[in-house]
Amino acid sequence: MVAILIGAIAFQLLPGQASSTSTTRSTSPAALVSSPLHQPPALPATSVTSATGDGGRLGTADGRVPEGVTVFRDDVPAVAKLDPKLLAALRQAATDAAADGVTFEVNGGWRSADYQSELLREAEAEYGSEAEAARWVARPNRSQHVSGDAVDLAAAASSWLSEHGASYGLCQIYDNERWHYELRPDAVTRGCPARWADAAHDPRMQE
Ligand SMILES: [Zn+2]
Repeated sequence: MVAILIGAIAFQLLPGQASSTSTTRSTSPAALVSSPLHQPPALPATSVTSATGDGGRLGTADGRVPEGVTVFRDDVPAVAKLDPKLLAALRQAATDAAADGVTFEVNGGWRSADYQSELLREAEAEYGSEAEAARWVARPNRSQHVSGDAVDLAAAASSWLSEHGASYGLCQIYDNERWHYELRPDAVTRGCPARWADAAHDPRMQE
């Protein structure tokens, strides 16, 4: 009886699962998420290349991050223009993580509205719809990156913070962006708040 039920359920579910996953998982978001670089989908080298290819207008002054930048780089605007409290927490955590052999490299930090707009346009082109792009890249007037309140970290730092971040007030905000951290001071005593599934579910992103 149980086997029959399971068989019936599987028969009903599998075709639907197959069709729904094939539309999403064969496209770039999942592929980028599972990339060994653990980079945010909107920040692979190709995005930066096309952004700078646009007359070279968008560079480090707009928040583009060169390779290998750590949270200690005061000369890189993406880092230096982060909210001072967020930056202080990041540097404290990075100092402690160094004892574990972990370096806090930054893939994204503060960004100009122009750069955020560029990333959003690229995400819409890449993902094929505004709705899917909204799961990954916020509009400039809503982005926590443009306000300097969010950082995207490389894999080693993200991994370290997933274990230790709350004691620094550093929390992962979205289930689908394990690299994206923001400051939640209350986390030091209460732990990090529940995560949103993705940016599209974040009330801050609504009109
Ligand atoms: Zn982010």
